[in-house]
Amino acid sequence: MIYSLSSVSRSFGDGDRPSVALRNITINIPQGDHVALLGPSGSGKTTLFRLLNASIFPTAGQLLYRTKNVSSMGQAELRGMRRKIGCIYQQHYLVPGMSVLMNTLSGALGRWGIAGTVRNLVSPEPSEVKRAEHCLEAVGLKEKLRCACDQLSGGQQQRLAIARTLMQEPEVILADEPVASLDPVLSDEILDLLVRVADDAHLTLFISLHQVELARRYSKRVVGLRDGEVSFDLPTSDLEDESLTHLYHRSREPDERVLPVATVDSAGGPDGTDARQKRACLR
Ligand code: ADP
Ligand code: MG
Repeated sequence: MIYSLSSVSRSFGDGDRPSVALRNITINIPQGDHVALLGPSGSGKTTLFRLLNASIFPTAGQLLYRTKNVSSMGQAELRGMRRKIGCIYQQHYLVPGMSVLMNTLSGALGRWGIAGTVRNLVSPEPSEVKRAEHCLEAVGLKEKLRCACDQLSGGQQQRLAIARTLMQEPEVILADEPVASLDPVLSDEILDLLVRVADDAHLTLFISLHQVELARRYSKRVVGLRDGEVSFDLPTSDLEDESLTHLYHRSREPDERVLPVATVDSAGGPDGTDARQKRACLR
């Protein structure tokens, strides 16, 4: 298992009114699995990604990465874990003015360390250039190697972001709405590419998407998040319209999801009526 989450919750803010972004998430992700994550805006998709790449930690429950509890990892272990996780976003975060090749090479920064980075950015090692060429070839951009990345189209820039991620030699790719700003044809192209490169290198792939059709087409497993909770976790072939209707049925506003820890019991009327109503609305 590459990830095991048991009863993971994540809240933000402290004091009396923490805002609960994820609640009681229990999912297992075997190595090599391809999972599509669906859910309306604010349902907690990005928070889940941030937990999976260890940029934040659970506030309750347990998140294991390859049997290790992420919350008890030391700095070196966390760095090792993050090096193995390639992240792709809607924004590509390329370095403007730098060539396609150098942007691709920058994916290896985590592997090189400080001395290696200085050396490779001044004069890249031939083996690393070869690897970068290979990654660019995998995404169909080898002929653009010397171009400035700003000259690429939106779809090409997303392909370059994928090449840079491959350069990192990850074992997991987390893609948070990678096609949100692309048209339908390019969206297909990018998802097709992600699935292909993940299959070729036996990578685990976790993609959040807004379009149900794309999830159906490109993933064998689909997880639905609603109001920070898992609404379904199914083989895509078992996904029925009813589950989707429930998933996208207007969710509670974030403010309504605030856990009124102290206020529930103290802010109600004399008979506690408001408090009970508030508690009911959280269920
Ligand atoms: P999605 O990616 O599905 O749109 P997010 O994970 O971004 O959802 O957000 C889920 C909920 O958590 C939202 O209510 C959001 O406001 C809240 N949230 C996310 N990050 C923070 C943060 N750093 N501080 C406070 N609240 C946050
Ligand atoms: Mg998001």
